[in-house]
Amino acid sequence: MLLQIMTVGHPALRTPAMPIPSGDIGTSELQRLISLMRDTMRSASGVGLAAPQIGEPIELIVIEDRPEYIDRVGAEKVAERQRYPFSFRALINLQLTTLAGPSIDFFEGCLSLPGYLAAVPRSLSVRVEAFDENGERVVLEANGWLSRILQHEIDHLNGIMYTDRMDPRTFMSKQLYERYWKDMPVETIRTGVIA
Ligand code: ZN
Repeated sequence: MLLQIMTVGHPALRTPAMPIPSGDIGTSELQRLISLMRDTMRSASGVGLAAPQIGEPIELIVIEDRPEYIDRVGAEKVAERQRYPFSFRALINLQLTTLAGPSIDFFEGCLSLPGYLAAVPRSLSVRVEAFDENGERVVLEANGWLSRILQHEIDHLNGIMYTDRMDPRTFMSKQLYERYWKDMPVETIRTGVIA
């Protein structure tokens, strides 16, 4: 069974999530929701899914970056994005701290806005404090692509879409990004002119 992913325009994507009471963490009901979110994310070939995207206004995200996803991206892009595989994890009641460092522009998409991409500035490094599905405290310091994924998913918990943060001149269909722009620097793409 898969869950339905809400698309942009659905009010669930604009509703801030509530923390999960500690007594509910580790229950079979929450474990079941986490497995369904995992299956739904994998079925959509996503690297992250936040509970508001499936209509649940609770502070829960799932993330995973699989080697086969990374193999589809060129080696140069993988290095530039500092993208490494990491295994599935569920994170609950997250607190995000942006660490000092540059803000980096890369293209990203969202399962709630399928078929589109835009360049979004994100902090290179973040620290996330959360709980795992068993209620154990987790502290993550993340750089590169994982930092971007965490910022994107935590934004969903606050009712924020990447379109709120993107450079609007770079918003485009995935198909035309692949056709015209995929190997160009964001600075060039922003001009809209192929040099
Ligand atoms: Zn998203």
